[in-house]
Amino acid sequence: MIPVKLRLIREHNRIYKCWMRMLWRWYGKDAPIVLMVHGFKPTKEECKSAFEMTAASFERLMRHLTDQGWRALTNNELHEMVESRSWQNKCFHLTFDDIYDTVYTEAFPILKALQIPFTAFVTKELVDKPNYITSEHLKELSYDPLCTIGVHGLQHKVFRNFTPEEMDEQCFGDREWLEQQFGVKADTFAFPYGRIVEVSNANRRQIKQSGFSMAFSALEGTVRASWFTGKWFLPRVNVSETFVDKFTSGKRLKYKDCEGR
Ligand SMILES: [Zn+2]
Repeated sequence: MIPVKLRLIREHNRIYKCWMRMLWRWYGKDAPIVLMVHGFKPTKEECKSAFEMTAASFERLMRHLTDQGWRALTNNELHEMVESRSWQNKCFHLTFDDIYDTVYTEAFPILKALQIPFTAFVTKELVDKPNYITSEHLKELSYDPLCTIGVHGLQHKVFRNFTPEEMDEQCFGDREWLEQQFGVKADTFAFPYGRIVEVSNANRRQIKQSGFSMAFSALEGTVRASWFTGKWFLPRVNVSETFVDKFTSGKRLKYKDCEGR
């Protein structure tokens, strides 16, 4: 038996997603998109979820965007666009969450070659763990002008049931560590997990007051939805094998093709 409270939260998530889906259909055209990428697997057969893809597909997508004249925005350029709401079409910003070591070994050389800026949302506890980025590799990423380092929580936990103090510890603990360790300004944030089920209104209000420039969710949509979400729960597009196949072959993308599941 699922507790009533959890059921209500799930319904909230469902209603929010329906609303985002309508925005996507009616309002999402020609708006900048924020791409959300996790790690890479060697073959398509090994990609078990929409959060995994091959480096070959990633390269195909990056080259396609470049060839088709899409403009790659830096984190600051995206922030300015969100602030001024002066949308330009065919723009994207690339983000990585959790930071697997394959971001350094597979994606970084491609991004260097194509000069595509990106944001790496780092969780301190995952650094130097098996399959995740090493401190050395992260240092190298952080020194590169293409890379913006962002905060993804100290431990990659669900925020919803945190007290304000626990949430501060997660956000500022990670931020302070990143800033001290790598000498960067880490003022952009992505909620771990990042759906309504995992992130409460109180969490979003608190992040608004905590001095970050903007915060990203894991819900699907374009940044035009910021008139509705504000700067504190910006939607992104999850990049999966399906997304790359459809996008690069010019097929019409459905909302569910951009979902992380
Ligand atoms: Zn994450």
